[in-house]
Amino acid sequence: MVEVSVEWNTDRVPPARRRAILEAPVFGESFTDHMVTMTYTDRGWGTMRLQPFADLSLSPAALALHYGQSIFEALKAYALPSGEVGLFRPDVNARRMNASASRIAMPDLPDGAFELACALLAEADRAWVPPQNGAALYVRPFMFASEPHLSVRPATEYTFAVIASPVASYFGDRPGAITVSVESHDVRATPGGTGAAKFAGNYAAGFAAHGRAEAAGHDQVMWLDAAEHRWVEELNAMNVMFVWRRDEAPVLTTPPLSGTILEGVTRETLLELARADHAGAGAVGPEHAGAGNGSAFGAVLQEPTSIEQIVAGCADGTLLEAFACGTAAVIAPIGTFVLAGEPLVVGDGGPGASTMSLREALLDLQYGRVADSRGWLRTTTSILESHSVQL
Ligand SMILES: *Cc1c(COP(=O)(O)O)cnc(C)c1O
Repeated sequence: MVEVSVEWNTDRVPPARRRAILEAPVFGESFTDHMVTMTYTDRGWGTMRLQPFADLSLSPAALALHYGQSIFEALKAYALPSGEVGLFRPDVNARRMNASASRIAMPDLPDGAFELACALLAEADRAWVPPQNGAALYVRPFMFASEPHLSVRPATEYTFAVIASPVASYFGDRPGAITVSVESHDVRATPGGTGAAKFAGNYAAGFAAHGRAEAAGHDQVMWLDAAEHRWVEELNAMNVMFVWRRDEAPVLTTPPLSGTILEGVTRETLLELARADHAGAGAVGPEHAGAGNGSAFGAVLQEPTSIEQIVAGCADGTLLEAFACGTAAVIAPIGTFVLAGEPLVVGDGGPGASTMSLREALLDLQYGRVADSRGWLRTTTSILESHSVQL
């Protein structure tokens, strides 16, 4: 049982300023009035505190600064048609947080604490959940080693915290297709390494390659496997999916989880939606199909994809569509891959029909616009109630 304390912010962002931020939120730039913190010591986890958003006080010897014990999560809170605030599959993020923690020798959170912390913050700052379509409150839980010590060993003290930042739709109303450069030198993750954890160091390891891609005018980097530099893994913070022409109906594929890929909630959700559609449940039905083609898949597969297959598929037109997926961008259509400076155009280079219908189906679920038969959307009030917490 987690104990909760509440200290309201008496010096909040003025409403006019908040409304101005909410009209055109910039990813990760402005934060809400509160945050949640909870610390772990040799006595276990302490009180979960909802408190005013403020700087943390940290020893310069905090172990996370030296040896990198630091992990995070990401999910969004949505303004639902009912007036409530929804979190999409927070239990999956909670499990992944614990999996990331154990990979770098950090303690698990108490049962339910992750969902409770996210719900506490999103409910306390519900005035910060942007109402417009496509916008949301981005919720960022994280945990790091706060013990002051310089020994090369796991810390005995940790800080878990949740902050939140309003975000607009990543792409405005309709996404354009992005250009993705295939990284030929650096690797993001290695077998046996930390690639499957949302571990801070993984992202730093990708920055140099990302900088090179950006300087060349590309939007993102796609990582290949460390051993052969041949098998597609994922992007910096997004998984990747392909739509191929095979037999009658198009086939949706994504690389299998090999231990070097982060298991995205979006990836898993899209696989299930596409499979339900394949089975005839109509999750991605023709009502969503933009151009009226390519919405029902002949198969949905977790299958290794080599860079040679992408080259061939772009050349002969059998690679119909490609897209990246993750919480922040939802679905980003990929129009062009760049391999060793050479562009490989996917389909007609624009967003594909299946890509866009999957995107609509996912957004409809996340924003509570369609019935949720799977219990994926949790309201903040129902989470607080299940913990007997009142705000
Ligand atoms: C967070 C992340 C993703 C996407 O995960 P979602 O749960 O869908 O947001 C994919 N790849 C990496 C490396 C990530 O960090």
